[in-house]
This record gives sequence, structure tokens and C-alpha cells, in this order.
Amino acid sequence: MKKLEEILKTWEPVIGLEIHAELTTLNTKMFCGCKLEFGAAPNTHTCPVCLGLPGALPVPNRAAIESIVLAGLATNCDIEKHSMFYRKNYMYPDMAKNFQTTQGPIAFCMRGHLDLDVDGANADERYGLADLKPGESADNITRTEDGYVAHVGITRIHMEEDAGKMVHIGGGEGRIAGATHSLVDYNRAGTPLIELVTEPDLRTPEEARLFMQKLRQIYLAIGISDCSMEEGSLRCDGNVSLRRRGTTELGTKTELKNMNSFKNLHDGLLYEICRQAQVLEEGGIIYQETRHWDPTAKRTIVMRVKESADDYRLFPEPDLAPYDLSDEFIESVRAKLPELPDDKAARFQQEFGLSAYDARHLVEHRSTAQFFEACMSDAERELGSAAAKLAKPLANLAINDVSGWLNANPDAVLDESPLTPNRAVQLVQLVADGTISSKQGKEVFAAVIEEDADPKAIVEDRGMQQVSDTGAIEAVVDAVLAENPDKVEQYQGGKTGLIGFFVGQCMKRMQGKGNPQIINELLANKLDA
Ligand SMILES: [Zn+2]
Repeated sequence: MKKLEEILKTWEPVIGLEIHAELTTLNTKMFCGCKLEFGAAPNTHTCPVCLGLPGALPVPNRAAIESIVLAGLATNCDIEKHSMFYRKNYMYPDMAKNFQTTQGPIAFCMRGHLDLDVDGANADERYGLADLKPGESADNITRTEDGYVAHVGITRIHMEEDAGKMVHIGGGEGRIAGATHSLVDYNRAGTPLIELVTEPDLRTPEEARLFMQKLRQIYLAIGISDCSMEEGSLRCDGNVSLRRRGTTELGTKTELKNMNSFKNLHDGLLYEICRQAQVLEEGGIIYQETRHWDPTAKRTIVMRVKESADDYRLFPEPDLAPYDLSDEFIESVRAKLPELPDDKAARFQQEFGLSAYDARHLVEHRSTAQFFEACMSDAERELGSAAAKLAKPLANLAINDVSGWLNANPDAVLDESPLTPNRAVQLVQLVADGTISSKQGKEVFAAVIEEDADPKAIVEDRGMQQVSDTGAIEAVVDAVLAENPDKVEQYQGGKTGLIGFFVGQCMKRMQGKGNPQIINELLANKLDA
């Protein structure tokens, strides 16, 4: 198959996402009082309502409606005051009612958007970017210094409920093919679920990945879901079609399932774009179908030919009155909105003088953003205004070392780890004042976590004080010379005995651990230059 870069010259991919989030932080189901609990014994959290027994009447969960309104406000949606629930025909056994209660085209949240910052090598995938100068806009993007901002519309976020879970017995790998019988667990049936539908505004797999990532950050910040892609509490389907560059009519789309990680979402869409391009270029036809991304085989396979909207036979839910939201309710939810990731990044830039790039990456994970702030307040307590120079190294520590460690140890909890903010500040100070090199800093970082010890103690125990790293010593030499311009002048005027003073100052700064030979050499080079 051709490479994406080649394909993009002829074809324009049009991508839309449908993202489901289970409201896992709630206590009870959407229309009944059954408890929400992941991993409970099968069918222990059920009742006549979520089992669909005759005569059972649903009651909407007010906390769930608060959650979806919060999601809408956090994604720039209009909150629709008047909306209603529908029954959607559903003929699989994991929903005992034989229908799913869901909202129709008018949902609680309508017409929102998110702005995505795309930078680095992935920005080049956006066709036509090279024709724009920074600040210029075309279609839904605006060029920036290091990439572009894409404005992505959100059609709506609607409320619905999850189905139960089927377990197939006797077949291979839990599949239905070859199974002798199937079991159903209705604990999950009726779990409050919100589905966000984007406009078909995305043009590259990277944009889709960034959208999902940003939405996850927002949902985590507002605390409505644990957003576990592995456990399925955050799920993403992607619709993708191609059209020839310069045409406006949409091509036939396929829907991709099983993109349960950011990488799978990116790779699945990338493959599908390449596959469709090949089919179309060979004169073939794209069928409207649902396809499954197989990350091992690295291809998509047909699951089923897509139902048309008529098959769902949506009709108004007679057991639930149309829902009206009052202004007071909406404002009470708005008052609960916490600081959102974009606002936090803007504040970090302003308050700590970080670059836009650093600030954006720092807020990608709530835990690292919190950790950075805790480090900064610790540094400010100890160093006052001198803490400002540690902002950049602390941000780097959080973005690179801390995130890297958390990624490698998914079960680790930063708050409970040996890496306290105070130790982090100590560590970056040791590097900043040249006591240890930045390379040694990495070693000390690992040792802090491994040995639950203070960076200073580690440096002493390991005799790392004898610094022979020329770069680190040079930084100290430069600082000492810069601080003593009068003595430099005297030295250069003939008082060469001052060399001892400079060496002493460097040693003092390096707590007596600098390599004296290197210090002497560097001083001589710079003073005699
Ligand atoms: Zn129930």
C-alpha cells in the first residue's frame, strides 16, 4: 500500500469520532438505584428496571445529568434546556429490555468544540499547512510557529445507558464462534454512558489521537469518569471516508471499532485511510460497514455491514417525561467546573514563565501537573523569588523523568512514591548549581525512587561529588566569573595570584567536590583568553 504522505496528495481523509464514556464516578445506574461496581459477582447489582421486567418504571439519575452538563460546559457546548429520551431498538441479549434508552438528535449538550494544538513532525501531515504563514487560517486550522491549531466541532453529547456483558463458553478466546453456550452479566446494564459525536472536521490520524487525548484530560479534570481505555470505560469509534482533493461531496465511510488505546486509534485510522485509497485507486467501491482494527495483524477486518438509522427504530420513551433543565441547575453545575487543562497551561505560562510547549505537555497528566505545582510552592518557600529559575528544570523533570517513570510503572502512585516535591527540588538544584551533571541527575532520580532517600544523601553516599563533567564545571566557572567582574579585571591586569580565589569560589559552589584539575584548566582558558 502507498504511504500516507503520497495518498494525502490526491485524497482528503474525512474523519469523525464517536466517543463513549462510562460515568464511573457515580454511585448508581442511569434509571434505577442499582449500585455501580466494577468486578462484582455477576448479576448481583440488578433490579426490575435494569432487567426490563414488565411494569418497572425508570427514574433518571440526577447526578448523571449533572455529569453530562459538566462535560458539555467543559467542551464549549450549548446546554439544551429541553430534550427527551427515546427507545432505540436493540436485539442482543445483553440488554434485557430489548431497547436502549437514549437521547435523540436533540441532546443535553449541542454545538461544542475543542481546539487542538498540533506540532512537531505530525503537523506536516496536514495538507496545505506549508502554504500558510504563522497566524494565517484556512479551513478549520490556524498556522502557529511550530505547527497549527485545529478547530474541531462537537455535534452533541447525549446521554444513554450501557448494555450488560456476554461471556461465551466453549469457543476459542471467548469468541461466540464455536461456543456451546453464553452467559450474561447484567451488572453493567444501565450504567450511565455519555456519547460525544464530533463533526467530520478531523483530517489526519494524529488529529484524531490528539482529540481523544484532550477529551480524556478534560473528563479526568472534571472527574466524571476514570476514563480507562483498557477497561473500556472510555471507548472510541472512528468514521472515515476519502474524497478527491478539491471535491466537497463526502465519500462512503467505514466505521472502525476496537481502538482501545491512543496508538490503536491512530494506527487503525492510518491503515483504513491507506486501504480505502488503494480500493478507490483500483476502481473498487467502499462499502458502508463496521470494521474491526486488529493491532496484531495490523489491519482492519469487516465485522458487519452497517445498520441504517431506520434499523434502530428510535421512538419517544413513553415512561419518561421530556426533560427540562432550569437556568439555576445549569448555573449550579457551571459553578462546579474546575480549572480545565487549557486554562491551567495558560496559567503555567503566565505564572512560571514556561513555554507554551512545556505548559501544554505538563498538563497532559493531572498527576504531573499537580506535582510540578507542589514542587514550585516548595521551591518558593525555600528560595523565594530565586525559585523562578527552577521552573524550567522542574517542568522538564515532570514531563520527561516523572512521566517516563509513571508510564513504565502504570500501578505507581506519584503522591505515595518516594519522590516528594522537596526531593525533586533538591535534585534540580544539585544539577543547577553544578554539584552533579544532568546525566548524574538521571541516576540520582532513579536512586531516589529505588532507595527512598534524599538526593543529597545519595550524592554523598555514592561519592558523586567529585564532579569531572566538564560541562557541569564550566557552568560553575562561568557563574563565578560572571559574579566577580572586578576580580576578573584585576586578574587580567596582572594579579594572577587571584586564580586561587576563583578556584576556591568554584570549589565552594561545588561543595568541594569539583575536579580541581578541570576547574584550573577551564579557569585558565577563560581568564587568559
Ligand atoms: Zn437496576
